[in-house]
Amino acid sequence: MTDRKFRTRLVHDGIRRSQYGEMAEAMFLTQGFAYPSAEAAEARFLDQGADEFIYARYGNPTTRMFEDRMASIEGCEDAFACASGMAAVNGALSSLVKAGDHIVAARQMFGSCLHVLKILQGFGVAVTLVDGTKLDAWRAAMRPETKICFFESVSNPGLEVVDIAGVAQIAHEGGAVVVLDNVFASPVFSNAVALGADIIVYSATKHIDGSGRVLGGVVLGTRDFIRGPLESYVKHTGGAMSPFHAWLLLSGLQTLDLRVRAQAANAAAVATAVAGHAALARTIYPGLIDHPQHALAMDQMGSGGTMIALDFAGGKEAAFRFLNALEIVSLSNNLGDAKSIATHPATTTHKNLSEEERATINITPGLVRISLGIEDGRDLVADIVSALSAV
Ligand SMILES: *Cc1c(COP(=O)(O)O)cnc(C)c1O
Repeated sequence: MTDRKFRTRLVHDGIRRSQYGEMAEAMFLTQGFAYPSAEAAEARFLDQGADEFIYARYGNPTTRMFEDRMASIEGCEDAFACASGMAAVNGALSSLVKAGDHIVAARQMFGSCLHVLKILQGFGVAVTLVDGTKLDAWRAAMRPETKICFFESVSNPGLEVVDIAGVAQIAHEGGAVVVLDNVFASPVFSNAVALGADIIVYSATKHIDGSGRVLGGVVLGTRDFIRGPLESYVKHTGGAMSPFHAWLLLSGLQTLDLRVRAQAANAAAVATAVAGHAALARTIYPGLIDHPQHALAMDQMGSGGTMIALDFAGGKEAAFRFLNALEIVSLSNNLGDAKSIATHPATTTHKNLSEEERATINITPGLVRISLGIEDGRDLVADIVSALSAV
């Protein structure tokens, strides 16, 4: 099983077939499971077997197929499926800390991830935010009570790349674990386990669904952590994934590698076509040679990824003119979708941050984030270049 290649595992791993031998993964849209006797119910609550279920908030055959497939492709011992990416982030962090503990986190992060850190601070957990790209800053922030180093491997939306192996070494020397939000890399460009990440989180809403239909999330790690503190936290606080969503995400996984590689090729084509355009102060793409962490991105992911960011010299006004001139690329705030999507972070996804907070993480008023889809790259380049000329 484990020496099968990535694409084969995306299609086959984790499947559990019923007595009917169905080809497609079955959707067990049931919250409960009937026991043949009172003794059987007692036995199951006492010692649940690997293929035995109690209640869908604890687990379900369809969500278990999704968990097993995710664990296989990421190279982790186990996985727990969550209702959304944020349920996964919250579960991973909250199950590891208590009042008095300390978290070091990158400040270049998705707004909701920063919000979870604020909630934890209210419960007595200390948080230090650092520039994730500076290993010295991570090292300086470590304390004896540091339990977690938390970051996005490629930050949303600034596309700054964090050195996973470097932070992992600092975390481990200090007795902390790495919790990695790996959404922008996606499982396709992830070497997170080999690089030393302990706990990996995905929003499955993004590339894993890839069709913008459902919310989902997953936490991956050792069996002891996943079936211990993580499962216990998520199943009792209600963050479990719907079997219907797991069923859709299983079919999303089958085409993940094909889609993400096509998206990354489109991202590279668009970034190359627009770089240096007069309307742009910066074209940000880790695959471009002038990106500050270009070499690290290539080492760590072997790709520049599926996202680009354009910083308009003319600020918000220019960014809005560009957005309003797009015809194929939709204005929305999902990412990783088959359809290309453009977002203005300062007024949408990151609007809850203060102006200064945004400035420290390079979210300028002119910044536009684009998630490239699987459309023909020639059409995307034409759409984006023509919208640029409208600026
Ligand atoms: C979208 C996103 C999340 C949250 O995922 P949801 O499925 O929307 O809850 C977390 N981290 C990153 C980097 C994201 O892009």
